[in-house]
Amino acid sequence: MKNLRDIELMYVKGVGPARAKLLQEELNLRSVHDLLRHFPSHYLDRSNVYRVRDFAGEMPFVQLRGRFVSFSVIGEGAKARLVGLFTDGTATMEVVWFKRVKQLRELYKTGNEYVLFGKPQEFNGRWSMVHPEVDPLNSTQAQAEFRGIYPLTEKLRNRGVTSRLMFQWIQNALAVYGSSVAENLPPEILAKYRFMGAAEAVRTVHKPSDAESLRRARERLKFEELFYLQLNIQRYSNRRTGAVRGIPFPRIGRFFNSFYSEMLPFPLTEAQKRVLREIRADLGSGRQMNRLLQGDVGSGKTIVALMTMLIALDNATQACIMAPTEILATQHYESIRSMAAPLGVNVRLLTGSTKKKDRETIAAELAAGTLHILVGTHAVIEDNVVFRNLGLAVIDEQHRFGVVQRARLWGKNAATAPHILVMTATPIPRTLAMTVYGDLDVSVIDELPPGRKPVTTLLRFDDQRQNVYRSIGRQLAMGHQVYIVYPLITENEKTDLRSLEEGYELIRETFPSYRVTYVHGRMKPAEKDHQMKLFAENQAQILVSTTVIEVGVNVPNASTMVIENAERFGLSQLHQLRGRVGRGAAQSYCVLMSKRKIGADTRKRLELMTRTTDGFEIAEADLKTRGPGDLEGTMQSGIPFDLRIASLATDGQLIQLARDCAERLLDSDPALAAHPALAAELRALFPRPVDLSRIS
Ligand code: ADP
Ligand code: MG
Repeated sequence: MKNLRDIELMYVKGVGPARAKLLQEELNLRSVHDLLRHFPSHYLDRSNVYRVRDFAGEMPFVQLRGRFVSFSVIGEGAKARLVGLFTDGTATMEVVWFKRVKQLRELYKTGNEYVLFGKPQEFNGRWSMVHPEVDPLNSTQAQAEFRGIYPLTEKLRNRGVTSRLMFQWIQNALAVYGSSVAENLPPEILAKYRFMGAAEAVRTVHKPSDAESLRRARERLKFEELFYLQLNIQRYSNRRTGAVRGIPFPRIGRFFNSFYSEMLPFPLTEAQKRVLREIRADLGSGRQMNRLLQGDVGSGKTIVALMTMLIALDNATQACIMAPTEILATQHYESIRSMAAPLGVNVRLLTGSTKKKDRETIAAELAAGTLHILVGTHAVIEDNVVFRNLGLAVIDEQHRFGVVQRARLWGKNAATAPHILVMTATPIPRTLAMTVYGDLDVSVIDELPPGRKPVTTLLRFDDQRQNVYRSIGRQLAMGHQVYIVYPLITENEKTDLRSLEEGYELIRETFPSYRVTYVHGRMKPAEKDHQMKLFAENQAQILVSTTVIEVGVNVPNASTMVIENAERFGLSQLHQLRGRVGRGAAQSYCVLMSKRKIGADTRKRLELMTRTTDGFEIAEADLKTRGPGDLEGTMQSGIPFDLRIASLATDGQLIQLARDCAERLLDSDPALAAHPALAAELRALFPRPVDLSRIS
């Protein structure tokens, strides 16, 4: 049988080299295998035909059935557009094409019946549709009972790749290679849960004949996706096998006790105390700790990390804490040093910009064991950083820290893997925690320190900008600082950067007596750090930036955040951003700016933000409202993998099943020696190099 991963896309009938390249760039589809697993994100039921008369408000993509009454070409040359008057018997609307005007004018006929698929828009009370997909009523495409809608990007659409074309290519591929779709689930699992076979499921998902077989096909493909994800996660898990011994930390000694009884800067919250108890139980157990500490922004994770590190010190080992950026590492370094130095603890900072001489000191002290706590960025896991006896590693804001990096940390102690504490402010719904952090135990700080005033969140429209600026002026006059955040999405990068620059100019003109800094992701890291530092030190009062404001940056004097084009952000992202304010004693504000014309759903989402600051509620809502196939949504969510078909929001039960199946299989066959096909599939899906000898 052919391995479909080895067959390049350009050999599929209709695709060719240029489009193959485009598909790879835009959707990461490389082979026939990938194409067949580019699943529809949703389906239109043929019976679900909209009527033009019923159009109202913000419309989704819809299907229509009717005739063109007339066509006209308006304008000339490159500016020419084709306008068709379309009626479905209930009302008429205009259909407009800006591209391929001549060909399309010849292709479409008045009088014939067509099925249209597109997004209706309203201008001055008239409905129109731009570049819809058009199928003759009697075509196979139009007659399919369910019509799959494929996720595409803006660029693909601009190059004429439509959902219909994807469908056609996939059908062409299936005609030649459909019988080579290999079964990749073990027969016992297929039989036990009566899953549909792989080849049938792939065929069905692209061209379902009825609702029930579509449901079964999707169930099987979702399970398969989740099962391999779980296999991959659990393969590295020490919790599953208990194979990795940990360094026992039986002692609570001088460091921890004197800090706890004499030096705590404030009483711990009940949640902080509970989490510390959970951590202490892990550390004393003789197993390696692998714990995720989850707590909303400002919930006080740093002090928990510090006290955990003090336990490591009490047991004659060293500790390190890592942050994703230099600024965050520096902030940690300063706060940890100020709290721990009075105990005689030696703390040092290691980042990419640490000078050679300081590196040498660090290396010498690490080797001698006289350096107790090393704070740093990813520089800490580099091979030339050698500890004498690393007992605990803390990773703050794990987003950019995957399984592989964690595995490298384990190797930092030659004798026994160090304990690991991963801290995150991202509220993680249960299904997600199970999936992404399948091998971690989870602790939650679900209580904020007393006296915090929740951030007041307001929704304001662009035409209210002057009022918003007046409020900013008042905050500045009170000595506070202000963040102004712009979206940046790679797809619209140019436009987005332009609006950022325009915003910056406008702010400078509006607030001439304050210093304004300006940060975006395209800047060199050193420049970015410099600008951020100006703001952190209150040399600048206003920071205009794209979403690069680093997770976890702490500027308690910043009381206000304005988020421009808030409608373009995911809810969890808005929540993360909002967490930058409300860190000081003053009442803080988050202003969500949006254009006035937004859809009902968008408005509901933004209003949720004004109503609640509960990160969990927001995360759940985010997962539910973010449609499957929403490519930008997935990319922004911080989830370190893409799900093609399963949904973390709705497939909780299948996730559980996949997890159980993977666990059972690995229990009986830890190296997958008896399942070579599974092992090969796993390698193909997750080719990242991991030093397994370190782990098992
Ligand atoms: P995060 O969980 O976002 O990392 P931090 O550890 O930075 O939060 O804590 C946020 C702020 O709250 C810090 O200024 C810290 O000193 C303070 N803080 C932490 N715990 C408490 C507490 N129990 N009581 C009062 N303030 C606290
Ligand atoms: Mg923090």
